[in-house]
Amino acid sequence: MTDPMNTVSTTLGVSHAFKYCPRCGQAHPHPGRSPFLCPHCGWSFYFGPVSAVGALIVNEDQQLLLVKRAREPGLGLLGLPGGFVDAGETAEEALAREVREETGLSIREPQLLLTYPNQYHHGDFIVPVLDFFYQCQVGESTQVELVDGELSAFQWTRPSPDQLNRMAFASNRLAIEKWLRMTR
Ligand SMILES: [Zn+2]
Repeated sequence: MTDPMNTVSTTLGVSHAFKYCPRCGQAHPHPGRSPFLCPHCGWSFYFGPVSAVGALIVNEDQQLLLVKRAREPGLGLLGLPGGFVDAGETAEEALAREVREETGLSIREPQLLLTYPNQYHHGDFIVPVLDFFYQCQVGESTQVELVDGELSAFQWTRPSPDQLNRMAFASNRLAIEKWLRMTR
């Protein structure tokens, strides 16, 4: 997940990458329009958002799991476990898979907290993303085993203003602020 506040104004939406029709190969006279509609063969394509999930994992002491990012975007800043939804997965399945892959934790009782229209910078282009943030409980074990290379540290905490200022993504911060208001 990425931060719309980091958007470079010269970066174009991914529809601009479609200069030729993927079906018939002819050049499009006006690349960048959405949806893509080929005037030669009539083929159309919608640049809908891809789905991503973020986990607000709560332990028995009503603390959240924050992770420290070991790679860009947001190297050294804080975030929530999560990632993109694969084709064929439910959002809840993607949430459980991403949390397990990144932290080794099993989660239960996911509850949708917030959705957020976001953007992902892919090469020179912007891909629209729809984020789904879930509050969830930890399964039997609270033992965290971070995935190598992606995350460098973790902390169970009730996030402070200082920690909120060090979040990698504005969307994560919004979700945490909503959770803090709900659990005040
Ligand atoms: Zn075509």
